[in-house]
Amino acid sequence: MNSDSVTIRLQSVAKTFPDGTRALEPLDLEIAAGETLVLLGPSGCGKTTLLRIISGLEMPDAGGKVLFGDADVTALPIERRNVGMVFQSYALFPNMNVAENIGYGLRVRALDPIERRKKVQGLLALVHLEDHGERNIDQLSGGQRQRVALARALAVRPRALLLDEPLTALDAKLREQLRADIDRLLRSLRITAVYVTHDQSEAMALGDRVAVMEKGRIAQIGTPRDIYFRPRTAFVADFIGTMNRMHLAPDAAESLFRPEDTRIVAAAEAQFSGKIVSVFFLGDHTRLMVDCGSSQLLTVETADRREFRQGETLHLAVDSGAVLTL
Ligand code: ATP
Repeated sequence: MNSDSVTIRLQSVAKTFPDGTRALEPLDLEIAAGETLVLLGPSGCGKTTLLRIISGLEMPDAGGKVLFGDADVTALPIERRNVGMVFQSYALFPNMNVAENIGYGLRVRALDPIERRKKVQGLLALVHLEDHGERNIDQLSGGQRQRVALARALAVRPRALLLDEPLTALDAKLREQLRADIDRLLRSLRITAVYVTHDQSEAMALGDRVAVMEKGRIAQIGTPRDIYFRPRTAFVADFIGTMNRMHLAPDAAESLFRPEDTRIVAAAEAQFSGKIVSVFFLGDHTRLMVDCGSSQLLTVETADRREFRQGETLHLAVDSGAVLTL
């Protein structure tokens, strides 16, 4: 583990803005040293506010506490918390080249120039930009800019890395590449990290744990597997992937199951049947919307390579182990 990483604890942290907006209800949260916690939720649920409170950019309401290790940092501004931040917009200095951007925090700390150069080289290598130190920021792609922002945030050996939707501005392919890079970095550095996103696949891929937020509250916190397979509320179930809802027997409670657990079977084995309403061929799998006569269309995902047609009848079944009842 990175010896500089800290456990972050929030105690009764709430936030009401001066205009009366209640962004966060009082919450307690502990992020272990070296852990990556993802804050996931829809727009306006309070993710950024929570991250800003951890960083020191925002103060919690009176009575709330932020602790780094055993130290109460609630009253400390961001520059005294030693955290690294990466935002959606790169927030790099346009008048400095890549190396100067990365070394900025080291220069401010008056690190010896030779040491500084060595350190910056190491950081450039860490984010695969060895040959780009002399480049201007405007000569970089979006993905490269975000790598610079990451290296700059890591330069000062922060006690925690705080990332606010760092991939949102990038196109899909780049997003996936950089996501893999961030994952590798977080795992190898074992730095305490809090990562804000509204993208559930990003959350699942990066988080040791994921906190799903809803209207200023943590609706559920757990490992990605916990959240996906054992959602505690309908909100969490629907937010993480797609959930089918259906009465599997006329007098039974509503059952919830995932599209990928909905199997296409022979008529004799069918638990229910329906007609295909739409077909989305997605390359590695096909997503089918099926009308089974219930109020909601059913979503079925299959790796079957055959060409499905609108109007075709499908016979379906779900293993009992894959069914959730909330
Ligand atoms: P998004 O994904 O859209 O960034 P979020 O989950 O990060 O959303 P926050 O930015 O934390 O949400 O905002 C939570 C709530 O607080 C929202 O209703 C927002 O409008 C409100 N809010 C945020 N900042 C302020 C502010 N400075 N003054 C008043 N209300 C604010």
